[in-house]
Amino acid sequence: MARVRVGAGCWVWTGARNTQGYGVIFLADRRLGKAHRVSYEHHVGPIAPGLVLLHTCDNPSCVNPAHLRPGTVAENNADKKAKGRAFTPHPRGTSHHAARVLRFRGVVRCIAEWAAVVGLKASTIRKRLNRGWPVRRALTEAA
Ligand SMILES: [Zn+2]
Repeated sequence: MARVRVGAGCWVWTGARNTQGYGVIFLADRRLGKAHRVSYEHHVGPIAPGLVLLHTCDNPSCVNPAHLRPGTVAENNADKKAKGRAFTPHPRGTSHHAARVLRFRGVVRCIAEWAAVVGLKASTIRKRLNRGWPVRRALTEAA
């Protein structure tokens, strides 16, 4: 597959992403598909109807089939809740247009806000997340 950085850990999708951080890809029939689903079906096999893929690594841009497992929507929601969900869609009608927001220590802020709070550049945080770093490390490790 194109647009993937394959490594020992997460395979980070480097192509287009949707607002939730999931990689997106145009399918043969021109529909927009989720990259991790395409990857899973390519490497493992079809996903049963009604099931979603859960990221065991909690990295929405990861398309490593070894980090994906099918589950129900309810399971996915419980999983997100349990993990404190790193990525959430940005609330509409706010000034942080198209920004990704991060939840850390129970607080949700956009990357620019976190950058100011933790004393890092927003571009540094974004780069780290794109490399597949967990939110905590991306926000706490010294530059
Ligand atoms: Zn992963």
